[in-house]
Amino acid sequence: MSDMPNSVAPAESGEEKKSLNFVEQIVEGDLRAGKNDGRIQTRFPPEPNGYLHIGHAKAICMDFGIAQKYGGVCNLRFDDTNPTKEDVEYVDAIREDIDWLGFHWGNIYYASDYFERLYQFAEELIRAGHAYVDEQTAEEIAAQKGTPTTPGVASPYRDRPIEESLDLFRRMNAGEFPEGAMILRAKIDMASSNMHFRDPIIYRIIKVSHHRTGTKWGVYPMYDFAHGQSDFFEGVTHSICTLEFEVHRPLYDYFVDLLKKVEPNHPEGYRPRQIEFNRLNLTYTMMSKRKLLQLVQEGHVAGWDDPRMPTICGLRRRGYTPESIRSFIDKIGYTKYDGIIDMALLEHAVREDLNRHALRGSAVLDPVRLIITNYPEGQTEDMSFLNNPEDPNSDSHTIRFSRELFIEREDFMEDAPKKYFRMTPGQEVRLKSAYIVRCTGCKKDENGKVIEVYAEYDPETLSGRPESNRKVKGTIHWVSATDSVPAEVRLYDRLFLDENPSEAAKDKELAELLNPESLTIVREARVEPFLAQAKCGEYYQFQRVGYFCVDPDSRPDHLVFNRTVSLKDTWKKVNK
Ligand code: ATP
Ligand code: MG
Repeated sequence: MSDMPNSVAPAESGEEKKSLNFVEQIVEGDLRAGKNDGRIQTRFPPEPNGYLHIGHAKAICMDFGIAQKYGGVCNLRFDDTNPTKEDVEYVDAIREDIDWLGFHWGNIYYASDYFERLYQFAEELIRAGHAYVDEQTAEEIAAQKGTPTTPGVASPYRDRPIEESLDLFRRMNAGEFPEGAMILRAKIDMASSNMHFRDPIIYRIIKVSHHRTGTKWGVYPMYDFAHGQSDFFEGVTHSICTLEFEVHRPLYDYFVDLLKKVEPNHPEGYRPRQIEFNRLNLTYTMMSKRKLLQLVQEGHVAGWDDPRMPTICGLRRRGYTPESIRSFIDKIGYTKYDGIIDMALLEHAVREDLNRHALRGSAVLDPVRLIITNYPEGQTEDMSFLNNPEDPNSDSHTIRFSRELFIEREDFMEDAPKKYFRMTPGQEVRLKSAYIVRCTGCKKDENGKVIEVYAEYDPETLSGRPESNRKVKGTIHWVSATDSVPAEVRLYDRLFLDENPSEAAKDKELAELLNPESLTIVREARVEPFLAQAKCGEYYQFQRVGYFCVDPDSRPDHLVFNRTVSLKDTWKKVNK
């Protein structure tokens, strides 16, 4: 199912203007109603337990986008309540990725900044009879949960004296008990139709050093006991998250309302408002950080920034631009139901952007030598090559023509079928930006492999001259054999074979789901000297071949290019 919303409406002026998405509508409604004195504050709340992926980009565009559009502020909050999985490496990477995407946060906060206040609030709840320490095992507690239609069973510890819970909670925090020995639960309603109200766990013992607070704390709050409260402490007005939190919203409100009773100094009527939108799922892609970590740890990919990963750093290394990612997010929009987006739409977005911005150059990935037998030995000519025909202000660079060139092996065929318009004996083709040549034959090695192709050029047909208007059906690209340089080219394909790998992973090992041909390394490509000067962070189109960027592994004496995407757009074909 596609979840493309119909979010583009024609404006009266005749040009296209975007209609508001449902979150913007809610925000505008709140502004009209005068809520929060017109103040807009959002937050992006990643858990620093992995690198950001394209799904996070969707949340980032929403959280920062709302603040930007309505003159508010979006803060970055690290949701660091589980020290077992979190690390500063991730904190740093998250900051870098948001910055690269082009968004600016107001402040940086950490949920761990609120550990003291959250702890005090928990004690307050115990004192008020709203929480108790439960010594049952996780299995026992789970077995008592009931089902949505049958009530749960109360824990035998539910009515223990307040003083006893308070004492135990303090000793839990002091490190007196092992992990799992007991937990703190909110005392709400074991018969609630909302399962999250059946005495949810709010604190657990974790005996791992935290990346910011070290060993100061022996207990850590659960997500439901930290998120809404953190929003409240910071003054968040709209807490935007994904749909799976919709069922948590009543609990979010419940804790915030209790907190308001004990926390002084908050504006009258203030309460952060949670709004949920659909998660991004992409075909042939796994998005869960746990699974991505597994791919890295088991060595299926070269790291979090492997160009096949859906991480922001992977996409960056692959050659995606921040604009293309933002434009993709804009195209898919925000809805209230889950779906799966075709990967081809993401590829379409980057193609569209790179077509506008990428510099054009010539590279031959599978070179075979072409000798222009009637071209004088030792002669060369510099031909002009437009850097970007899509850009009216584009410069050009020169490409050197010589007697010996390299062309793609697949651009020559000794016995070609009728509709083959490239190099075949007796047929004319144009060499891009240069001459028309007529193929005269080839030379093969003892195994029948073509090692040289021969052609004669027509000196009257130099590209751009009026007399060069003779029509030929095919144009092929080339580089000079003498001044082109060798390069390694990495061709990427989808990492998973299955269209919905997360589903498939339910009864298969991760390794079985991987596409064995997701990476093809071309070791002996030839690129024109213009491309040899390409730098990391620049975007290129290799004529007729695809879009490429320089990999960080690239060195002046060993160039490495990554294919971002091929030229062929499967999205347009299917959808136009
Ligand atoms: P994962 O399941 O991949 O580990 P997460 O939800 O645990 O993701 P967080 O770091 O907690 O990751 O997410 C930070 C924010 O990004 C949350 O508001 C979350 O809702 C949002 N987010 C995460 N994944 C997606 C996604 N696929 N599409 C849209 N938003 C997402
Ligand atoms: Mg999470």
